[in-house]
Amino acid sequence: MATLRFKALETAIGRKPVVADAPKEKTSEYFGKLVFDRAKMQKYLSKEAYQAVIAAIDKGQRIDRKIADQVAAGMKSWAIELGATHYTHWFQPLTGGTAEKHDAFADPAGNGSVIESFSGKLLVQQEPDASSFPSGGIRATFEARGYTAWDPSSPAFILDDTLCIPTIFISYTGEVLDYKTPLLKALNALDKAAVEVCHYFDKDVQKVTANLGWEQEYFLVDEALYEARPDLVLTERTLMGHESSKNQQLEDQYFGAIPPRVQEFMKELEFESWKLGIPVKTRHNEVAPNQYELAPVYEEANLAVDHNLLVMTLMRNIARRHNFACLLHEKPFGGVNGSGKHNNWSVCTDTGVNLLSPGKNPKSNLQFLTFLVNTLVAVHKNAPLLKASIASANNAHRLGANEAPPCIISAFLGTYLTKMLDQIEEKVTDQKMTPDEKTEIKLDIGRIPEILLDNTDRNRTSPFAFTGNRFEFRAVGSSANCSAAMCALNTALAAQLLEFKVEVDAIIAKGVKKDEAIFQVLRKYIIESKDVRFDGNGYSEEWQVEAAKRGLDVERNPVKMFDSYISEQSINLFKKTGVLSEKELHARTEIKWETYTKKIQIEARVLGDLALNHIVPVAVDYQTALIKNVQGIKELFSEAEFNELACARLELIKKVGNHISTIKAKVHEMVEARKVVNKLPDGREKALAYSEKVFPFFEEIRYHIDKLELIVDNEMWTLPKYRELLFTR
Ligand code: ADP
Ligand code: MG
Repeated sequence: MATLRFKALETAIGRKPVVADAPKEKTSEYFGKLVFDRAKMQKYLSKEAYQAVIAAIDKGQRIDRKIADQVAAGMKSWAIELGATHYTHWFQPLTGGTAEKHDAFADPAGNGSVIESFSGKLLVQQEPDASSFPSGGIRATFEARGYTAWDPSSPAFILDDTLCIPTIFISYTGEVLDYKTPLLKALNALDKAAVEVCHYFDKDVQKVTANLGWEQEYFLVDEALYEARPDLVLTERTLMGHESSKNQQLEDQYFGAIPPRVQEFMKELEFESWKLGIPVKTRHNEVAPNQYELAPVYEEANLAVDHNLLVMTLMRNIARRHNFACLLHEKPFGGVNGSGKHNNWSVCTDTGVNLLSPGKNPKSNLQFLTFLVNTLVAVHKNAPLLKASIASANNAHRLGANEAPPCIISAFLGTYLTKMLDQIEEKVTDQKMTPDEKTEIKLDIGRIPEILLDNTDRNRTSPFAFTGNRFEFRAVGSSANCSAAMCALNTALAAQLLEFKVEVDAIIAKGVKKDEAIFQVLRKYIIESKDVRFDGNGYSEEWQVEAAKRGLDVERNPVKMFDSYISEQSINLFKKTGVLSEKELHARTEIKWETYTKKIQIEARVLGDLALNHIVPVAVDYQTALIKNVQGIKELFSEAEFNELACARLELIKKVGNHISTIKAKVHEMVEARKVVNKLPDGREKALAYSEKVFPFFEEIRYHIDKLELIVDNEMWTLPKYRELLFTR
């Protein structure tokens, strides 16, 4: 019995660290070696081609076919020198993750030989067989075809033997089918809107970019133990398992020493990331046992997203070489913290100003306040959309579960800025300000310390926290593509800045001075968005009550959260900024529902199977052993002695029996519920029914399984336990 579990344990305990394959050179010498970056473009492209690509990157200009041919030829030479034999368009379909289809450079050249070929046509556009990617019904109504198109703003790179070209993915009729396209559009919309607003303060600003610094959390589990847990293999989370007696109570894991096996994995992950030009910087233990974090230095948001997806791929692959399975799921284990991906976000100008960082004088600080307050209003108005952008079946385990950000979007500013906004609210009026009043408020603003970073009151329970020179959007899930959240946030700010400009200009047109007009609009916004500001404990009961009183969105069901993608507010927002059409939004929401349904459906099946063919048989065996034991006692002892000796065991037999019967009955009920739900024709209704009628069985069934795990002979138990999965040495 239980051989797989014990074999796996033996293997896991006997493991030695796999030494990371370290490059011979120092980091600065091989950083970006596998990236077709500007330096390589300069070397491998003609001056004309180089300039065309740079113009495409910096100004979004189109690249014509002749130039594309030259770029393709340059890329090919570079890639072949580094041993690449294949190329692929690398894109981000709505399944999550990335997709690629590799083609060899080698082409028959007649007489049995081949030549390496790669043309501008193949670089710029391809038609992958797209019919098996989710489209939310968009393609069904047109053609099954979709195509990928080169995104020159994210450089090509080599993964293993393949030249990867970052691309967007759209349907033949132009509808968006991926995560990258709307992000690029959102960043573009923000650029345009923000530049206009910057011109109130500095006419030299020509471009505004959003930055993203993600912090990726993940778990590592020994590969052998992972393989012995079908639930981990099939759903990436444990659907059962009693808490370990020791887990994270002692808080001895966070920032603690990293086990040597893990350390070697991390080193290799860093080497590979650096080769791909990903500026990974920080590694440490996280709060839960076997949980870790990796964070790079922030980059332009589109590039940062690509790099995050690449790192997730690297993590999974490199973990295998070190005999680990890397779990990116938001909640692989009950009872300990789940994993998220903080999105550190800021907005910068091409003149080198971080618009979310206080400056040195009243003018730059007024600009800072302008962007800060517009962000608050944007977040307040679009909180339901922001929630939709991070909601998923996986992330539902974290949000609102008293460990991760609550299910309510609020913004933390800290005492200093809160006071500042209060002062503006108090001192500015719709009336013309006296010169004294103006001086006073400008003096106040001028005093904002340049670096608020050391604000010790950094609030860890806020989903959207200002941390001195950026906001940290902390509700993003660890397995998610950051694009969705970044698209929603940047679009929301873009739309808000457009509105701001209109309002300020209207006041200026009435003869009010620019600064005063800005103050007036900011004051109005400060009042309007007050409800989204919250500096207290986001995990507390009181906040739930208070937030509902304030009229904030407190929805906890992910399926209902998705609705916010197609609310009137969101449709108008995306239309106004040209980021997504109503049809595309409907398609996306449809996919969200579908994905939710499938995830819960798979989990329900795996849970049912494991309950019936792993847990129940073991429990029955154990019960049989108990019964035999009791029968033996009965044979050997008098009735009085028997009652004394076997009484507790009889209770245990009953207890085991009750758990077994309940598990069987609940699994049966769950299967019946699923049958009913599966017949629902509407995507939303089905997803909702899965969340309300099927999902609740999970906890009920698990409860009895976990109880059995505590009772049943350890030697008989087949599935690796939490204490075995979670403590790598
Ligand atoms: P924490 O204390 O929250 O773990 P870190 O100092 O580790 O924060 O930084 C987290 C991430 O924030 C890193 O990716 C870092 O580069 C990024 N970051 C720092 N400053 C900014 C900024 N101005 N804009 C965007 N991201 C930033
Ligand atoms: Mg952080």
